Amino acid sequence: MSEMSRQRGITILGSTGSIGLSTLDVLSRHPGRFKVVALTANSQVERLHEQCLKYLPQYAVMADSTAAAQLAERLKASGCHTEVLSGVDGLEQVVTLNEVDDVMAAIVGAAGLRPSMAAAKAGKRILLANKEALVMAGDLFMREVRENGAELLPIDSEHNAIFQCMPKNYSDGLSETGVAHILLTASGGPFIDRDISTFETVTPVEAVAHPNWSMGQKISVDSATMMNKGLEVIEAHWLFAATAEQIKVVIHPQSVIHSMVQYIDGSVLAQLGNPDMRTPIAHALGYPERIESGVENLNIFDIARFDFKEPDFHRFPCLRLAFEALKAGGTAPAVLNAANEVAVEAFLGSSLGFMQISKVVEQTMQQVPVSAVTDLDALLATDAEARRIAQNLIERSA
Ligand code: NAD
Ligand code: MG
Repeated sequence: MSEMSRQRGITILGSTGSIGLSTLDVLSRHPGRFKVVALTANSQVERLHEQCLKYLPQYAVMADSTAAAQLAERLKASGCHTEVLSGVDGLEQVVTLNEVDDVMAAIVGAAGLRPSMAAAKAGKRILLANKEALVMAGDLFMREVRENGAELLPIDSEHNAIFQCMPKNYSDGLSETGVAHILLTASGGPFIDRDISTFETVTPVEAVAHPNWSMGQKISVDSATMMNKGLEVIEAHWLFAATAEQIKVVIHPQSVIHSMVQYIDGSVLAQLGNPDMRTPIAHALGYPERIESGVENLNIFDIARFDFKEPDFHRFPCLRLAFEALKAGGTAPAVLNAANEVAVEAFLGSSLGFMQISKVVEQTMQQVPVSAVTDLDALLATDAEARRIAQNLIERSA
């Protein structure tokens, strides 16, 4: 049977989120090509119930056990035969099933690490949106991918763009394959031109209002602090074996060029498109074929101009901290990520100011000594320690 005619089984981790919804939108444009095996969410019973009725997966998983019980009851009442599982064990179970070929890893934050690792161990094709997993455990994750014959396709728009512009044999080493730099583009978020003296008064509503992209709350705040770009620098390091010096962040406010690769012969290859995550999602779902995504073609005549500028580390200290964490190596990126998750949650809950996010991250990094990453359990212990310290710092600042 040809690859075209064989249905691919897919599990979507985080199907109720922004990436999850865009994935289901692309899938529904290709009936017959994919079979949704499992859908998962944290606690959004209503939305997962609706999705189960529409896509009839074999399994649905809720991380939260109370929500899982509610979902099971609702599905039974609706006459739907989807089996409901719960917790991290349930998430791990539905990525390792034989009938699953592809795993869309679209849980937000550290919660996505264990199921994404399980998908790597099971040798699946992983469509990776959950950048935090790679930031925390890049070394362990990439090793599992290599050793188990898994395949990793980036969903993050920049990394997907870089992947499309890279030479075929880039895994032989960037310098060896003629790559000089990765030019990682960034919109700069909603506060690129805002007067810094007003940063103290930034509200959660202002921070999540991204000018070009519609995304989940956490990544929207990360875009406003530019921690998102910092996490993406670390993500690019692991995906493409690039050093910190080989990755240049370029502010490009129009968000039409999704990233570029600069070669030693002077060539620069770029991937362009309307800012809509369904493009990288369709690229990875169809890979190596091209499939329709529902995204309107870019009207090149509508683009008045492209602007580029260098990032300002003073305006965006989170970006500086991420480069520092990458250079420090070991557990430093996991500590950066954990402190940031805690600080962003506090900011969204209005118990921490916008300017304090980077301070909490910096002070947590100062308090947790950097050590080598040996195994997942030790890494998760460091993650928990960083969260405790960050939480304490937030309580003291209140
Ligand atoms: P979101 O908040 O919209 O959705 C998150 C999903 O994860 C939801 O389905 C939620 O139920 C689930 N989830 C949350 N906590 C969980 C837990 N503890 N256990 C199990 N499931 C849990 O987030 P999003 O914007 O879709 O982002 C998802 C990931 O993709 C993030 O890592 C983000 O950085 C990355 N990403 C998103 C975009 C985007 O455009 N939204 C772009 C690039 C990368
Ligand atoms: Mg991105």
